[in-house]
Amino acid sequence: MSGSDFREMHWMITMIHHIDVGLVVLDKNYRIEVWNGFMKNHSGLTPDQVRNREIFKVYPDLPEQWFRHKLDSARLLKSRSFTTWEQRPYVFRFQNYRPITGSSSYMYQNMTVVPLQSLTGEVEHIALIIYDVTDEAVNKIEQKLANSRLQEISRTDALTQLFNRGHWEEQLRQEFARMQRSHRPSTLIMLDIDHFKKVNDEFGHPAGDEVIREVARRIKRTKRSTDIAGRYGGEEFAVLLLDTEPDQAMYFAERLRKAIAKKAVEFEQHSIKLTISIGISQNSPDIDSAQAWIERADEALYTSKREGRNRVTMSPNKPHMNH
Ligand code: GH3
Ligand code: MG
Ligand code: MG
Repeated sequence: MSGSDFREMHWMITMIHHIDVGLVVLDKNYRIEVWNGFMKNHSGLTPDQVRNREIFKVYPDLPEQWFRHKLDSARLLKSRSFTTWEQRPYVFRFQNYRPITGSSSYMYQNMTVVPLQSLTGEVEHIALIIYDVTDEAVNKIEQKLANSRLQEISRTDALTQLFNRGHWEEQLRQEFARMQRSHRPSTLIMLDIDHFKKVNDEFGHPAGDEVIREVARRIKRTKRSTDIAGRYGGEEFAVLLLDTEPDQAMYFAERLRKAIAKKAVEFEQHSIKLTISIGISQNSPDIDSAQAWIERADEALYTSKREGRNRVTMSPNKPHMNH
């Protein structure tokens, strides 16, 4: 080695030591040969402490099987490969110290695996390059969270926190399509507060709002977690009961009707009595669209209104026209 070769070699080593990515070189037996300054600073382990030790002994929480597989295939194919934080947040668990990205306690990492060929063309060593991608990862995760919050907001009715009409109808269409295939029994319930205009007129609009909120709360308390409830209109609600036979649906509707009639809504110094009318439609083969299903439940609801309110009506399934 000439004097200038030696000097360049020395420079190279200095740069490797100071570069702001992690560099690790492993031999065939996963023993560490190079461990640069980045690795030292973040792991707290000096090159002297790790040199010639098997990496799984130094870092016992490395995902060994995955890691071996990655390295072995790079060795075999003699080609480099990449892993990203989205597949695996980190390879080496390093603390994240940066105050700006305080939301993450560890460093997100991408890794490049580079097979190093010897002069004979054999791959004796593997280099790992570790990139700190915490900023990028945290930004992306926060963006995703913000998006899902926005989506949540756009699905939700602000007054009641039930699904709004658009989202509820979308859910109904999806369920209807699924039912066409699975033939599971499901029931649709529409309900409307009786003489609600009077509540607004007598007690004022804020009282009306509180009544709507309270009806929504009682619906939430009565339904199962799998049932899909939405605010369909001003003081009109819809609930889709999945996997529910007509008698169970009738039981649900009666329970809800009674829960609302039994207990007045307290608002400021007023005690506001109210009732609801309910229409039920069991899905059946002659209902050919989600819209037709809503119409059935709606007709039943208006039968309840016509016949005196504070009652439940089950839509009759249309007789078969085969004679
Ligand atoms: P019925 O027994 O036939 O249902 O009589 P109703 O008085 O309830 O009649 P209708 O359904 O036509 O009246 C609905 C009223 O609800 C009309 C509207 O002013 C009021 N409303 C709609 N949305 C809201 C709301 O968000 N808050 C309040 N306070 N009132 C609302
Ligand atoms: Mg009404
Ligand atoms: Mg109404």
